[in-house]
Amino acid sequence: MTNTVIEVYEYLDSIAPFELQESYDNAGLLVGDADAVVTGVLLCLDSTEAIIDEAIEKGCNLVIAHHPIVFNGLKRFVGENYVQRTIIKAIKNDIAIIAIHTNLDNVLTNGVNEMIATKLGMNSISILAPKDQDILEEVAGAGLVGKLSTSMKGKEFLDHLKEKMELSVVKHTHICFEKIKKVAICGGSGGFLLEHAKAAGAQVFVTSDYKYHEFFDADGDIIIADIGHYESEQYTIELLYKIVKEKFSTFAAHYTLQSTNPVYYY
Ligand SMILES: [Zn+2]
Repeated sequence: MTNTVIEVYEYLDSIAPFELQESYDNAGLLVGDADAVVTGVLLCLDSTEAIIDEAIEKGCNLVIAHHPIVFNGLKRFVGENYVQRTIIKAIKNDIAIIAIHTNLDNVLTNGVNEMIATKLGMNSISILAPKDQDILEEVAGAGLVGKLSTSMKGKEFLDHLKEKMELSVVKHTHICFEKIKKVAICGGSGGFLLEHAKAAGAQVFVTSDYKYHEFFDADGDIIIADIGHYESEQYTIELLYKIVKEKFSTFAAHYTLQSTNPVYYY
């Protein structure tokens, strides 16, 4: 029994249809032979050169990453930046790369945000900004809103957030509520969902990539909690591992042992 790259791709498509990706995105099979037999899969957030090296070392010829290594058209492949070098290394070593990005953000079940909600012990979860399209039976769209199992004081919630998301720091706006019960979530850059989070009645919006002036938009209506992009999505690797492992037994699945976070705190 063997499985091919396209079979893995099709399974991922059944979990998080690639059609659900945002227009700016580039999720899908980015590099490699769709008909190649999979020898092993390496799961990661960012398919960097170091990840390709790790895949080679572990005997994996398929890398499944959350972020697409290629977003825009490349005009030459001469190794002048990390994107080109990664692609060249993958092709030379017969390694395929699949990115499962905003399509995985936009599903509720087995999605990026459900994983965060689970870590935070939330219930009554639903999509924050549902899409009109009807690709899944289930409603799909960006972000999530749900309730904590018990309400918490502001600082207590921030401690909970730091503990469950393994954060050394959380950037947040003024704690303008006595009690926190309803929380909106968007793994990755979620600033575009702020008004949805307010409209849903969330006391806190957990996301990342906030700029200084954007923090003012909280405006006493909500607490913005910026936990860092990598940190917000770190459990996506665990999620992908679970998804692949549950379905396939003809090859080994590994999650990367390295952090690809380009941001350091000192
Ligand atoms: Zn991301």
